[in-house]
Amino acid sequence: MCFSTQAQQTDFVDFKKANALLGINPNNSSIGGKVWYVLDVIKETDSIYIDAVNMDIKNVEIRYENSNTQDLDFYYDNKRLWLIHDFKKNKKYTVYFDYEVIPKKALYFVERESTHQIWTQGQGKYTSNWLPSIDDMNEKMIFNISLTFNEDYKVISNGLQTANIPLPGMVKWHFQMQKPMSSYLVALAIGKYDKKELTSKSGIPIELYYYPEDSSKVEPTYRYTKQMFDFLEEEIGVPYPWQNYKQVPVKDFLYSGMENTSLTIFSDDFMIDETAFIDKNYVNVNAHELAHQWFGDLVTETEGKHHWLQEGFATYYALLAERDIFGDDYYYWRLYEYALELLAQEQAGQNTPLMDPKASSATFYKKGAWLLHMLRDKVGDEAFKKAVKSYLQKYKFKNVKTNYFIQEIEDTSGISLTKFVDDWLLSDTLLYNEMETHLSTVSNAVNGYLKIDCEGYSSKCSEYLTSYLFDESKVKVIEQMPNKIQSKDFKNSIKVRQAIAQNVTKIPLELKAQYESLLNDKSYLTIEAALYHLWLNFPKERKKYLDKTKDIIGFNNKNIKTLWLVLALNTQGYRDQEKQFYYNELVDYTSSKNGFQLRQNTFSYLNSINAFNETALTNLINASKHHNWRFKSFARDLLKSLSENEKYKKIITNLQSKDK
Ligand SMILES: [Zn+2]
Repeated sequence: MCFSTQAQQTDFVDFKKANALLGINPNNSSIGGKVWYVLDVIKETDSIYIDAVNMDIKNVEIRYENSNTQDLDFYYDNKRLWLIHDFKKNKKYTVYFDYEVIPKKALYFVERESTHQIWTQGQGKYTSNWLPSIDDMNEKMIFNISLTFNEDYKVISNGLQTANIPLPGMVKWHFQMQKPMSSYLVALAIGKYDKKELTSKSGIPIELYYYPEDSSKVEPTYRYTKQMFDFLEEEIGVPYPWQNYKQVPVKDFLYSGMENTSLTIFSDDFMIDETAFIDKNYVNVNAHELAHQWFGDLVTETEGKHHWLQEGFATYYALLAERDIFGDDYYYWRLYEYALELLAQEQAGQNTPLMDPKASSATFYKKGAWLLHMLRDKVGDEAFKKAVKSYLQKYKFKNVKTNYFIQEIEDTSGISLTKFVDDWLLSDTLLYNEMETHLSTVSNAVNGYLKIDCEGYSSKCSEYLTSYLFDESKVKVIEQMPNKIQSKDFKNSIKVRQAIAQNVTKIPLELKAQYESLLNDKSYLTIEAALYHLWLNFPKERKKYLDKTKDIIGFNNKNIKTLWLVLALNTQGYRDQEKQFYYNELVDYTSSKNGFQLRQNTFSYLNSINAFNETALTNLINASKHHNWRFKSFARDLLKSLSENEKYKKIITNLQSKDK
């Protein structure tokens, strides 16, 4: 090979375009087809590689400008396809080949309501597991994906859908990009979807996908999408960089969301109804992934130590978009929460500098956001905005390092940032006191929260909950004096009432009626906590509470339904003839046809009542091999602890030997 291990392929060759004509076979979870790449050779070389993991590759051909296509020598080591040729400087080549692969990761096949759902995750997994491409983020090219699939499904990929050609029983979908991107941002999502279309103020088409049965969830889930889109374009000062924007929920996703270029894929756990909105909504993730379309997708880190340029910026701009909706108190409160999380990390001895490629997500996301907040405070709005705009314009469709951004700020502000860079980027010390002092000066809400203290109860404390105070301050008071709550304190916002439901676990008789009213609140967390505590405190009224809540489901993990089933099973004399059905329903929630959030919640309940049967244990073994590592490790830990339980030991060993 002509280039040494130190040299990067990007010094020799510039990939301009990748075209893929693909098909997917969901029966054996394979993908494949024809791909071709257009590349410019910068320096003469005798070989060029393309990353391609465990693929069957054939018919490798090359075309040099106007010459005819000819066979190309290649060498394939199951990781990289090496194209062997006398590549000449300043020439443009096109290489073609066919491939097929059953990807081990990065492309996932999921069953949902007896239909297929197929989606990708490139970041951290490498797109080269399903599409031959260049893993190195510094190699940006234009990707155009065509894919043929069953006509009953929607296929969604990056960029503009330029055609969909009907074939017998199938549709051939074409997607086209205009601008280059790193390969980890290439994406596919296939499933049964409907969509709602919006247009931004600047004229960008926005497509919001949803499952056909979820039409009533579209408004609460995607609430504020247009407002945030318009806000970010205005705030960042650079127009949204791509032709259109799409958001697609998928089942059992690996993260909350992923900012694939012009195509955010997010966890369908965020598809929520009106009542869930108050406790668990998509607003922050929606804004975060959208901000990445500039910070991450338009300008991309050269390497991991600059990762905060993506996550810190996305977190900061998401918070600005939320500030535009929810106001200053919300904004500073979230910054305060971030600071507390970073403080906890410091106390656990886990701090690293922001520029450490192995920094935690708390550091990349939250310290990164804090840095930007403090930097803006230091240099002023005007210099900050001017620098961000210039940084994006200068490096658009390219890769960036931290000092590129810092340099822009120094140029626009005329302020030297040497000390600031030391403090915020290079040092692993958290400037917590500075952060807290800053918040108490700029935010009355946070300042009030910090000052209020009812740990040592005083008569003043009994007035706090009925006075005008920031909700979070009231929550703090409730947490500090749960046994001093009075009837008048229930006259409060949903959030404050929720704190009562969660913290007042011993319910005095004189508060019973007020407490029961919590079951009517429009919050699934409130209802869950209230139902549980009422059931515990007033055994004689259990039937009444269960009857009242029997039709409430809760979040997508069915937090209320599952609690209800467990309580019903444990209520003597309550619908005894139905109990087998209740138990079966719980066990059914552990099956793989459900999202992992519901499965995990139900496994926990079955564990707490020590009531696994063979089906639930089979589902648990199955869960211990899930593609979502958090769920997998939850299932593995639980399985391990159940294997030590005499009741299940033998059954598990038997099931596991059958499973092999
Ligand atoms: Zn992010």
